[in-house]
Amino acid sequence: VSIHRAHLIKLKPTAAQAEALARVAGTARFAYNWGLSKWQELYDKHLADPQQPKPNEFLIRKTLNAVKRDEFPWMLEVTKYAPEEALRALGRAYTNFFAGRAKYPKFKKKGRHDRFRVDGKDVQVDGSAVKLPKLGWVPMREELRFSGKIISATISRRASGWFVSLNAEVEDLTLTDAENQGAAGAVGIDLGLHTLAALSTGEKFDSPKAYALAQTRLRRLQQSVSRKVKGSSNRKKAVLRVGRLHERIANIRSDALHKLTTHLAAHHDTVVIEDLHVKGMVKNSHLAKSLHDASFGEFRRQLEYKVEARGGQLIIADRWFPSSKTCSCCGGLNAELKLSDRVWTCAGCGAVHDRDINAAKNLLKLAVGATVTVCGEGSAGSGESTNETTLCETGS
Ligand SMILES: [Zn+2]
Repeated sequence: VSIHRAHLIKLKPTAAQAEALARVAGTARFAYNWGLSKWQELYDKHLADPQQPKPNEFLIRKTLNAVKRDEFPWMLEVTKYAPEEALRALGRAYTNFFAGRAKYPKFKKKGRHDRFRVDGKDVQVDGSAVKLPKLGWVPMREELRFSGKIISATISRRASGWFVSLNAEVEDLTLTDAENQGAAGAVGIDLGLHTLAALSTGEKFDSPKAYALAQTRLRRLQQSVSRKVKGSSNRKKAVLRVGRLHERIANIRSDALHKLTTHLAAHHDTVVIEDLHVKGMVKNSHLAKSLHDASFGEFRRQLEYKVEARGGQLIIADRWFPSSKTCSCCGGLNAELKLSDRVWTCAGCGAVHDRDINAAKNLLKLAVGATVTVCGEGSAGSGESTNETTLCETGS
């Protein structure tokens, strides 16, 4: 058995190398955005005249290659992987969009999407240095923590500088905790009311207790503000207290989200979440209260950069489906399931489900499809928070 592992390492480029990295990332971003607008242009032409071809990744690539030399000669000065891999990423973005797994691709912004990918066959690692095509040896802050065939290198700029995520095929599955990064397979997540998140692996993350307490206090403070005379200094003081409490709540939430997203990105190469802006907000006002708009956006943002930094992928399932009521083992529907039922037994196959973990498994199945078996005999735990893994297996 061989698996892919990713290790994110900070680069220590010279000033000239840093400038060159920015140029390559700029080229990748340009190619992606060029491809996106070309795709839209060709699609409009196709709509107007069905004789015109429908755009696809191959056609976009061909079109760019035909004009590159004349229109964008500077593109030839950087590694060919920059535009190539950018268009491949664009193709994947469209595939995910058409499959209903992701939103329509967006234009990449300078400063936010400074990254490029290089195929592993043109990457060399020697101690704490990595050789990238047309860039030469770039020093790294640490050595790659495992050995194996390099599959790819993704170079990206973050707030604190340039990083490389080295993706390698390794044989050895025995990992220490410190090493265990980006190793395991896909995971589905159900964000909830009773727990912060339930994972298809059977793990649960609780909402911090301090969060609930602070919320109760916030409601009381807000009431006290409304009882005070407008314009009075007492009211001003109370408003100030509300503001401070808001900030505290945001900090608690952010801490909890960071712990969760770091865990997810470190242990899984594919993370599947539901788009709450589509699903939950309307259907479930409780959910809206427990993890409202702003924090879902924050959760998603953290996951995006952490997962990507490790060379993994984030899949956002766009459509709503009755995830809680469907048995993740046999697909049977339990129409009678009430919101208060935390644990239930499937009448069809006898599987015992924890409500939230079952939902997470269904989400994973929906997104990753037939490649994942999320079933086995056995129970899903007591509904209490537990780190116990269910007997279900993930694999192909
Ligand atoms: Zn069943």
